[in-house]
Amino acid sequence: MLNANWNFDNSYARLPERFFTRMRPTPVRDPKLVVLNRSLAEELGLNREALASEEGVAVFAGNRVPDGAEPLAQAYAGHQFGYFNMLGDGRAILLGEHVTPSGERVDIQLKGSGRTPYSRGGDGRAALGPMLREYIISEAMHALGIPTTRSLVVVTTGEVVMRETELPGAILTRVAASHVRVGTFQYAARFLSKEELQALADYAIKRHYPNGEHASNRYVFLLEEVMKKQAALVAKWQLVGFIHGVMNTDNMTISGETIDYGPCAFMDVYDLKTVFSSIDTQGRYAYGNQPYIAGWNIARFAESVLPLLHDEEEKAIEIAQKVIEQFPALYETYWLQGMRAKLGLWTEEAKDKKLIGELLHLMYTHRLDYTNTFRALTLEEWHFCEQELRDWYTRWQQRIARQGVTKDEVYERMRQNNPAIIPRNYRVEEALTAAVERGDYTVMEQLLHALQHPYAYTKEQEQYAIPPEPSDRPYRTFCGT
Ligand code: AMP
Ligand code: MG
Repeated sequence: MLNANWNFDNSYARLPERFFTRMRPTPVRDPKLVVLNRSLAEELGLNREALASEEGVAVFAGNRVPDGAEPLAQAYAGHQFGYFNMLGDGRAILLGEHVTPSGERVDIQLKGSGRTPYSRGGDGRAALGPMLREYIISEAMHALGIPTTRSLVVVTTGEVVMRETELPGAILTRVAASHVRVGTFQYAARFLSKEELQALADYAIKRHYPNGEHASNRYVFLLEEVMKKQAALVAKWQLVGFIHGVMNTDNMTISGETIDYGPCAFMDVYDLKTVFSSIDTQGRYAYGNQPYIAGWNIARFAESVLPLLHDEEEKAIEIAQKVIEQFPALYETYWLQGMRAKLGLWTEEAKDKKLIGELLHLMYTHRLDYTNTFRALTLEEWHFCEQELRDWYTRWQQRIARQGVTKDEVYERMRQNNPAIIPRNYRVEEALTAAVERGDYTVMEQLLHALQHPYAYTKEQEQYAIPPEPSDRPYRTFCGT
């Protein structure tokens, strides 16, 4: 048997026992490997051949527990669409933490691995389409430079899952800095003792914010750092037009990684009201709401750590308030930094925010594609007839001319900050249909390949830059050259 080089050291399993339930994944009938992330396997120091072997695949199917793993389902709670619920890993098992050759510690989690005590009414399983979708989008996000959980493997189970129709079952192996969520803290705050809450906070500090071990108040430090990470993360989402779709507090990590790719998608035409999730009927998680929701979620995090901030509740609230009220300004700073980079700005002027706002407003009123508008600026393909679009372009040209930077530097900065392509929904769907309905993975492999270097502006990527047909297609008129 080939050695996969798993190197488990399971710190989460050493937390107080009410944070999890030890249990093995439920075996499946006929596992088959359908996707293996070779570059990620390499980064993790794992042996690809061993991973792809029968014994390797048995691990990803949940049929075999590798040496050193201590499988468990994590307990957590969370606000789902604003309502508090007890949750937990209802269809996932944490195999353990793999420590890479460079010393990085990552969770190895199977998603779709069977029922657990936290499954509530669910079957504990996952369908192939959504697991491939998470694979594609999470890997695209990583390539875009956005903190995210990664996808190592997808296996099919040889079993069907019942949704509206029968679908092929699958298991995704997810790799994460950790799966500790805002909802994990909410669970501890609501159901466990202060000592257990403190154990979780100490754990999160040690694992994700080790500088906090020397801070004057380590729990205030934790709150501040988590807030910064989330503000930076959501700014990055907004800058590429990513819509998470289900920003429940259980889907918000303490590490600051994007997690749980459900009904997420990238926006085509710029519109703050864009929603993709069919269950989000109120538009709570619409594109334009994401920064506010992140702030709301951070407030829930602050509430859950209150007992650690100060012994007197009133003082604790005061401390928390002072921290979280900084969120909007912090978010805006990150966002503005990113927008300046997208427009090739090296310097800061007071009116930049206005110039950016005008562009976004024009995108909205002219129904322009968000990604391709920045792409057109980057490629100097701004061929609009409309006077207001031309006027904006002139103002922007004047702005970039004022900063004492060469044109090459301006456009280089833009190329590094405006993706040539994003995983557009219709291209993702096309790849999933080929894979799920025809067993043809080539469409997905080509898409994944193009998405690996989103800032490369290659010929191969051009076909993926085409926005969807027909009614949603951004209105654009060409004046000729
Ligand atoms: P999600 O919307 O994927 O973040 O999941 C929310 C909660 O529902 C988590 O506790 C999941 O573990 C649980 N869940 C989702 N799908 C299933 C399923 N098919 N079976 C059991 N639990 C599930
Ligand atoms: Mg979730």
